[in-house]
Amino acid sequence: MPHYDVDLSVVIPVYNEEANLDPLRQDLIPVLEGLGCSFEVVLVDDGSRDRSPEILRGLADEDDRFRVVRFARNYGQQMANTAGLRHARGKTVVIMDADLQTPAENIPAFLEKLGEGYDIVYGVREQVSVPLYRKLGTRFANWLICRMTGFRIPDSASGFLALDRTLVENVNRYNERTRYLSGLFAWLSYGRYAAIPVTRRPRLHGESKYTFWGLARLVINFVTLFSAEPVLLAGLAGLAAWGLALLMIIPLVAAMYSGDARAAELTLDAIILMGVGGTELIFLGLVGAYIGRVYANVRQNPPYVIVDLYDHSGEVSAA
Ligand code: UDP
Ligand code: MG
Repeated sequence: MPHYDVDLSVVIPVYNEEANLDPLRQDLIPVLEGLGCSFEVVLVDDGSRDRSPEILRGLADEDDRFRVVRFARNYGQQMANTAGLRHARGKTVVIMDADLQTPAENIPAFLEKLGEGYDIVYGVREQVSVPLYRKLGTRFANWLICRMTGFRIPDSASGFLALDRTLVENVNRYNERTRYLSGLFAWLSYGRYAAIPVTRRPRLHGESKYTFWGLARLVINFVTLFSAEPVLLAGLAGLAAWGLALLMIIPLVAAMYSGDARAAELTLDAIILMGVGGTELIFLGLVGAYIGRVYANVRQNPPYVIVDLYDHSGEVSAA
């Protein structure tokens, strides 16, 4: 079995959430104590510039079940969760947001579902009014993830998740500088997931930290993380240009026979342009294929991931 010190870790990324932290503690403690198991709360301060760091320090001083990881600057929610997962010592890890949009009362249902033997349980939010670009953005990101991993993940984005220790350890073996955790989770859990509905409320205090660009960056990160295909597209475009150049020989010959010198000249120019441009693109695609390989090696990710090992003495988890 993988090693763990407490039954449950709750990982919470915190960025300028001063007004939410006290209500958060009041929301969490009764629910966690009600579970009747050992727990810790890992709060990752993602370079907050309000009073959050002080408040977090106060929480940890008062109650040794609260642990705080404080970033030197703002690295974004993905990195905050990444650090949270690395510092979490629980057999099960729940990730939730600090803004109480999805309250702690959901935790027991997540643990129960995870106990049925899934790698990960997603929270699917009930319909709430979010900006259209947010909705389309999440849809698009999920669609991409499905295309690339071959598995459907629920249209969740509720920020609420439960993961088992094996998945956490596997996630922790990934070292990318840029991350899209939902993609990594989907990739690693390979269909061993469940989804349950969560209650979702408006943010308690403060504003959402996500802008359109923030989301667009996530999607670009994901696509470039999980495949080198975008660069190969250049090669395909080059081949298409060559195909077009060849096809244009027909109007060229026609123009030459009909004695239309100007049309012949223009067509020849176009053919030369497409031939030269196409050749460049084809080589760019080739270079891309090499870069893709270099990239795959530089990432130093595990070439394969094991979820279980069995031998005749019984089951041994591999992570
Ligand atoms: N967050 C973070 N770093 C950031 C942005 C957000 O740690 O750079 C945290 C934030 O404090 C919150 C969670 O990530 O706990 C989700 O952020 P937010 O509520 O702004 O996102 P939304 O609910 O709009 O998806
Ligand atoms: Mg939120």
